[in-house]
Amino acid sequence: RFVTFEGGEGVGKSTQIRLLAARLRALGREVVVTREPGGSPRAEALRETLLGGGAKRFGPLAETILVASARADHVDRVIRPAIARGDDVLCDRFIDSTAAYQGALGGVPPETIRALADVAAHGCRPDITLVLDASPASGLARARKRAGEGATADRFEAENLTFHERLRDAFRAIAKSEPERCALIDAEGSEDQVAERVWEAVSRRLGL
Ligand code: C5P
Repeated sequence: RFVTFEGGEGVGKSTQIRLLAARLRALGREVVVTREPGGSPRAEALRETLLGGGAKRFGPLAETILVASARADHVDRVIRPAIARGDDVLCDRFIDSTAAYQGALGGVPPETIRALADVAAHGCRPDITLVLDASPASGLARARKRAGEGATADRFEAENLTFHERLRDAFRAIAKSEPERCALIDAEGSEDQVAERVWEAVSRRLGL
């Protein structure tokens, strides 16, 4: 099955992906953990091109096209082969991040986002999407806590709180618009509490 995780920054996606992967493996399932932008060697190179310039970013339309190129490679070389083997694929961000960052916040029209997403994913659709939802204040606290681990806190603080509020609203709107695919998960609380909410949604929808 193909499971994607979405949400704003500092909501704890990577921790929850790790915990879900462990739980699925404990059931004897093969699990591939991957991410976007990136996930395959060439797509990781495009991620560096996209995000490695610090404040020097591409415009939203150029980003949409670059993310789509990265996704086409990632889908062809990693996601589709894994699904064909019968593995579970857990992906940190996918089409909904494009809709939120480049669409809702960047102003790229929804039809452009959809058209490029369809071309890039060519039929590869998540079975479930977990949209992790937390207040920007708690996201900021988490980002600060792991400031030593990378550029997340810098990037987080460079963007203002309004940006993170709008991002949160965009993800919540996506979750509400596609309730069959998306589960909106309350990501406030301890890692274990959130993991339990994630498991409840995943096990129910996958019939585990
Ligand atoms: O989830 P993660 O922190 O790895 O995301 C890295 C960054 O990539 C995000 O903070 C966001 O700024 C950017 N991104 C983006 N457009 C996407 C996906 C991610 O701008 N479609």
